[in-house]
Amino acid sequence: MDLQEYRLDKPQEECGVFGIYAPGMDVAALTYYGLYALQHRGQESAGIAVTDGTEIEVYKNRGLVAEVFQEETLNRFKGHIAIGHVRFGDGGSPSPINAQPLVFNYLRGSVALAHNGKLVNGDELRHQLAVNGSVFQSDNQSEVFVNLIARYSQNTIEEALMKCMIDIKGAYGLVVMNEKQLIGVRDPHGIRPLCIGRLESAYIIASESCALDTIGATFLRDVKPGEIVIVDENGLRSIQTMTPARKAICAFEYVYLARPDSIIDSTTVITARRNMGYQLAKEMPLKADIVVPIPDSGTTAAAGYAEATGLPFREGIMKNRYIGRTFIRPSQKIRDVAVRLKLNPIREIVEGKSIVLIDDSLVRGTTSKKIIQLLRSVKAKEIHMLITAPPVAYPCFYGIDTSQRDDLIATNYDLEGTRQYIGADSLYYLSLEGLLNSFEEPAGNFCTACFNGDYVLGTPALIEK
Ligand code: SF4
Ligand code: MG
Repeated sequence: MDLQEYRLDKPQEECGVFGIYAPGMDVAALTYYGLYALQHRGQESAGIAVTDGTEIEVYKNRGLVAEVFQEETLNRFKGHIAIGHVRFGDGGSPSPINAQPLVFNYLRGSVALAHNGKLVNGDELRHQLAVNGSVFQSDNQSEVFVNLIARYSQNTIEEALMKCMIDIKGAYGLVVMNEKQLIGVRDPHGIRPLCIGRLESAYIIASESCALDTIGATFLRDVKPGEIVIVDENGLRSIQTMTPARKAICAFEYVYLARPDSIIDSTTVITARRNMGYQLAKEMPLKADIVVPIPDSGTTAAAGYAEATGLPFREGIMKNRYIGRTFIRPSQKIRDVAVRLKLNPIREIVEGKSIVLIDDSLVRGTTSKKIIQLLRSVKAKEIHMLITAPPVAYPCFYGIDTSQRDDLIATNYDLEGTRQYIGADSLYYLSLEGLLNSFEEPAGNFCTACFNGDYVLGTPALIEK
């Protein structure tokens, strides 16, 4: 198992977006730091577009934010509006062509666009547009927005975006800018997160509020599902497009994807994770010596479980936080090194102990299997695995890469089969009800499709090319 496999064993966010309207401030540098805070949402490529009111300049490339941008690049950018994007990738094509923001010129001038999410009818629309003569530069679904905006060039940008929202079925948090305006758009179900912040007279729109904190801005509110917010010289204005649909916030943002210090739709992620631990304690109170998290995503829930059960919380596995994306692939002989590089069990803590081991999710199960082997190698006595979410049994079509259905451990094994595969003494998943009880918002306001197949937007149709 190498790090690539390790990564595939977790759901992957497919992007983070950031936008700022701030005359008189260094918008490029602020965007850079904002993207830095959103790095967990995508590590394949990063990009920033800036306008000074006359044109839009963009710089983007493969790599982490810190790798893509040098001080000279940032210093070159002058302007009052900027947007930025970090993108997740599957390690495939080395071309930076899929990097965002996308920048294009049309009848009304220049526009830059950055998208987090996935469109359910994106391929269909792309096909229709292509049949009608549109050209595409990449296999990036987000180009559908670009082509539709250009098609609606008789309308203002916000009118064009309203029309896009009628044509497009999908999950999106979008930041868009032209030479005068910064615009944020959230899909009608609010599946992907998007929020607004203030920094003195400046406005910021970002995927997660941790990006606001990082640059010293204050959280104003979430962008509402189906809302378009426009910032220009007159301040902030909002258009609530269509009647709000059923809210369907991605439950996985809280389980694993979002940063614990972010607030999404009135729930702080860290609070939700602690609640998941409390819920687990209610549903499956175990007798054991210690509670051990798989760091970092299992840590808060494990602390909640320990608090609720009165069992001691012990950090029995150490995580190395400094592993980059690229490292020399180990040979067969030292094949466990990849997991050990990342996670190392501490013998002194786990030896002879009966352990409640807590993790956020099991996607393919390969990492958990390795971790349990490592814990056994330092003589853990019993390992009872608790997962802070229900089994991931269905693929996500709304912007999260949870692997193909065939790769999901829950498709291939039942509970007992999964327990045997990962090698735990017992295994328990938090119920869907327990998960939904962990949030501030009512249970009906969440997307849970990857757990129960309830796809609020349906699934993509197979179209003939
Ligand atoms: Fe999130 Fe799962 Fe819904 Fe995808 S299917 S948006 S991962 S809750
Ligand atoms: Mg984890």
